[in-house]
Amino acid sequence: MKSILCNFRNFFLNQYLTGEKNHHSYDKIFFFFILFFISGCCTTLRIPVPLPIQADVILGDYIKNSILNDPMTYPLLDRSTNQGIYDYISDLTDTIFKSGLINNKDKFNWEVRIIKKDSQINAFATPGGYLFIYTGLLKFIKSEDEFIGVLGHEMAHSDLRHITKRLIKILGIEILSKIIRGEASPSDIEQVAKTLIVLKFSRCYEKESDNYSVRYLCNRSYNAAGAASLFERMLDFPAPPEFLSSHPSNSNRIRDINRVKSELGCAGVETYATRYQAKIALLP
Ligand SMILES: [Zn+2]
Repeated sequence: MKSILCNFRNFFLNQYLTGEKNHHSYDKIFFFFILFFISGCCTTLRIPVPLPIQADVILGDYIKNSILNDPMTYPLLDRSTNQGIYDYISDLTDTIFKSGLINNKDKFNWEVRIIKKDSQINAFATPGGYLFIYTGLLKFIKSEDEFIGVLGHEMAHSDLRHITKRLIKILGIEILSKIIRGEASPSDIEQVAKTLIVLKFSRCYEKESDNYSVRYLCNRSYNAAGAASLFERMLDFPAPPEFLSSHPSNSNRIRDINRVKSELGCAGVETYATRYQAKIALLP
C-alpha cells in the first residue's frame, strides 16, 4: 500500500518538476502537500533533480571556496607537508571508483581535504564531490574497512545529489538557480550558507548512502560493512557526531548495513587495521 501511495506521489511530483508546458497547471498547495510527505517515502529518491549536473559542480565550488576562506573555522591540514596521508585517502577513493557505481566519477571534482580538529569526530561532503574529513574522525577510526565505509557513505551523498536535493526542498529552486547563473545577491548567499550549516539529511538519504557504502566494497577483500563497525563503537556517545545523528537510530543503521552485506553476499572479511594505523600515525 505504501509503495502505491509513493508511486502516486512520485508521478505528480515528477510531472510538476519535469513538465514544461503543464508546469503551472498543478496546484501549488497540492505540490507542497506532496513535499510534506516526501520524507516518509524513500522511492522519491529516484525523482530527477530539476537542475543540470553542472549545478552541483558550481554549488560545490562555492561551498568549497567558502570553507577555504574561513581557516579559523576550518583549519585545513597542509597538503604539501602531509602528502602521505592525502595520497593514502586518494588511493581509497580510487578503490571506490573501481566499483563502477559512481555515476558522476568524471563530472565531479572529487577532492579530499582534511580539517585539523581532533575534537571533531566528523566528515561531510559537498555537492560536486568535495569531501572534508576531520582529524578527530581519522584518529577515532581503528581500521581501513571502517574508514573506507565512511568514505563511501560521504561519496554517495555527493554522487546521488543528496545535498542539492535537500537545498531545493528547503530553499526552492529559484535561489539555487540564481547562484548557478552568478546572479545571487549577498542575502541569497547568506541564506544558502545558513541553511548548509544546519542541513540534515532525512533517514532515506542516510539509508541510501549506508546502502551504497556496502555496494561499493562488495566485490573487494574488505569487510563491506565497515561503516557499521564504526557506528557500533559510537553507540554510547552522549552526543552522537553530526553524521550519525539523523534518523533512523544508529542501531537500526547498523542492522540495515549488515543486512545489505548479507543480502548481496559480500564475502570480504579484511579490516586492514595494521595498514590503517600505520598511515594514521603520519598525522601531526
Ligand atoms: Zn550521511
